[in-house]
Amino acid sequence: MRSIISAQTGNCPEDCAFCSQSAYYDTEVNAHPLMAAERILKAAQQAERFGAMDFCIVISAKGPTPRIFKKVLEAVDLLRVNTNLKIGCSLGSLTEEQAFTLKEHGVWRYNHNIEACRSYFPKVCTTHTYDDRVRTAKLVKKVGMNLCSGGILGMGESVRQRIELAFEIRELEPSWVPINFLNPRPGTPFGDLPMVSPFEAIKTISIFRLVLPDKILMTAGGREVTLRDLQAMGLLAGANAMILGNYLTTTGRPPEEDLRMLDDLQMPVRRDV
Ligand code: SF4
Repeated sequence: MRSIISAQTGNCPEDCAFCSQSAYYDTEVNAHPLMAAERILKAAQQAERFGAMDFCIVISAKGPTPRIFKKVLEAVDLLRVNTNLKIGCSLGSLTEEQAFTLKEHGVWRYNHNIEACRSYFPKVCTTHTYDDRVRTAKLVKKVGMNLCSGGILGMGESVRQRIELAFEIRELEPSWVPINFLNPRPGTPFGDLPMVSPFEAIKTISIFRLVLPDKILMTAGGREVTLRDLQAMGLLAGANAMILGNYLTTTGRPPEEDLRMLDDLQMPVRRDV
């Protein structure tokens, strides 16, 4: 079971059109600067008590400044010494030195979505490029951390572009592929886009499964509001992991409901992925 903390929220200098944490848009996100390492440790210890085996530190940024990076490392070191959690990070774009340093400090997984396929990415973000994202994803692999990388569906891309995204993700060889569905956030440029219909979402999950047969395919942000009454079909269509509970800026459905669904489907639960 994976737990995440939004250790620094909002005021991001990037303009990702789906994101309520961007400083470009007037949104209702509850922004706060980077939490102190001790506060992150407390949250991690609480998550561990609730059964989490993996804890991911997330910040809103293009990439960590030297000052922020140093503070994140302090938190990573505290977690390594005081918990048995596997430590993940999602800090945006990394330099090669930062990637090596995270690995040295015991970070085992790095989350870095490529968000959209190459041909659609310029419609999603203009302050950094698709190649910037791919560069960091490749660095993560190069230094020996596990890569978690997927994208967001329903941002105005065509069906063909969804398939392009699946093939581009395959080239990065991530271990986990989160499939997020746009949950349009008021105030963002994509705030008025229609949501992906439940059946279209199911078809897309199936296509991702065909393109990525050996990956852990994880339905993530927007799952509940997109799939609605077809939650279980998402798993039958090919997803084999889910994020339970709350996401970075939106809330999910109660974890008990998802656990009951897995039980009804007679799907075994692994807590260490
Ligand atoms: S997606 Fe990440 S980089 Fe883009 S605006 Fe949001 S927090 Fe910033």
